Amino acid sequence: MATDDARPVTVRRGRPAAPGLASGPLRRLDEGDGATSARDAGPPEREAADLRDAMAAAAADLADLTAAAGDDADAEGMLAFQLALLEDEALSEPAFAAIAAGAPADAAFRAALDAQVADYAAAEDAYFRARAADLADLRDRVLRRLAGEAEEAIPGDAILVARDLPPSRFLAVAWAGGGLALGRGSTTSHVAILARARGVPMVVGVDADGLEDGRPALLDGEAGTLVVEPDPAAAAAFAARRAESDGRRAREETFLARPAVTADGERVRVLINIAGPEELAGIDPAHTDGVGLVRTEFLFDGRHHLPDEEEQLAVYRRILDLAGGRPVTVRTLDAGGDKPVPGLTRPGESNPFLGVRGVRLSLRRPEVFTVQLRALARAATAGPLKVMVPMVSVPEEMERCRALLDAAVADLAAAGVPAARPPLGMMVEVPAAALAVAAFPADFYSIGSNDLIQYTMAASRDEPELADLARPTAAVMELIARVAVHGAATGREVSLCGDLAGEREHVADLLAAGLRTLSVTPTAVAAVKAAVAGWSARP
Ligand code: PEP
Ligand code: MG
Repeated sequence: MATDDARPVTVRRGRPAAPGLASGPLRRLDEGDGATSARDAGPPEREAADLRDAMAAAAADLADLTAAAGDDADAEGMLAFQLALLEDEALSEPAFAAIAAGAPADAAFRAALDAQVADYAAAEDAYFRARAADLADLRDRVLRRLAGEAEEAIPGDAILVARDLPPSRFLAVAWAGGGLALGRGSTTSHVAILARARGVPMVVGVDADGLEDGRPALLDGEAGTLVVEPDPAAAAAFAARRAESDGRRAREETFLARPAVTADGERVRVLINIAGPEELAGIDPAHTDGVGLVRTEFLFDGRHHLPDEEEQLAVYRRILDLAGGRPVTVRTLDAGGDKPVPGLTRPGESNPFLGVRGVRLSLRRPEVFTVQLRALARAATAGPLKVMVPMVSVPEEMERCRALLDAAVADLAAAGVPAARPPLGMMVEVPAAALAVAAFPADFYSIGSNDLIQYTMAASRDEPELADLARPTAAVMELIARVAVHGAATGREVSLCGDLAGEREHVADLLAAGLRTLSVTPTAVAAVKAAVAGWSARP
């Protein structure tokens, strides 16, 4: 092991989940902290009374957290869900029954809640599946109380490192300049939503093995890195960047609530990309021009059955509702490549990015594709919904999609089910589509720069070592401009919904290429609007 004065710098890479830079000592929060004690069973009356007291103490904790959450509706919703569960006798009944039969309170409560967590985790409905983590969090809170542990104060100025962190523990931290690095967790989890809303830098997918408590660390929520034991020069450079970034973000925030307008007064539309309705919960729809990309893979991910028409319909309607009358573009399933769906995508493809993904897969599985098209056509009666097809490479694919959508609408009409024919557009993310864009029968186009770059540059989007190739080179920009010109000439909307649209340093180039609609990750809206405001078409 290295000595104190010669500790090597450690750099761990993950994925950015909430922007910003943080520095501070590492603080490890290991899963199940405080929830592992095992007690011997006392008399059943005593065990039952202790469990009741622990549940009451947990309820009081949740009430305190709710009061501290102020007007944060998202946080309040999560805490209210946990409180309602705690008050639901059906939840604790099996625990009290086990206690009456001689089980110790902690084992009884854990077993009862574990069964519920498993039920939620296996639910058909994505909403209930997402609640499994909240239920597990509630279980651990009651068990900590049962073990007589006071809620441990988590320092808000540290870099917290954990495998995962339940939302209520995030909310219990008095954040003061610290950040969060998680091994698991996703950029769309509740914690990530809370972190973005509260300006807490966060990175997910960080390997925390071997990281020791108390070591100085730098967390970069923009690059997605955690640096432990930085050398003095790196720490000073980071501090300077942080000061600059804090100032810049404060300036950019002033653009958030305003429409995006260039320095010449031209209106630019800024929409957001989401991967499920939860992401809209913490967002004021008035700050955006709508949802430019709904990635529907979340509906198909990690489940036993493919989602049926009713389940999909409910989700699409919910998104339309949350968007408050603004347009919503839903992308049909883009499984394959880096997004395998068990039971649907082909295992063992030698090159999945060039394999049966996106529309190629949907057209090979019309029984799955038609369910999605029917749900979308039905949802289209509830608001301004548009449908977009991923990975289109030849015009025939669009023709076949149009025919399937028209047939779905006709079938619904014949059965007397209310439905509408939404506009059908395509993603332009394969160079062949950008080069021959005029040949494709699409109502609108949305450029997927993530894939367009990787296919144009022959540089995998998930290979960090090729980052110098996988960028918007002149060749990529020429393809983008080509699509924008075609859209302007034919009066069809062209947007760009890849990550490039949300990178402030590229906004000027995209506007110069002729784009006037950008769809970005929700955290980038203010920065993109600020960049738009600074751009002029005049040389
Ligand atoms: C893209 O390729 O730019 C895009 C938006 O799609 P995804 O990142 O989901 O492949
Ligand atoms: Mg793509």
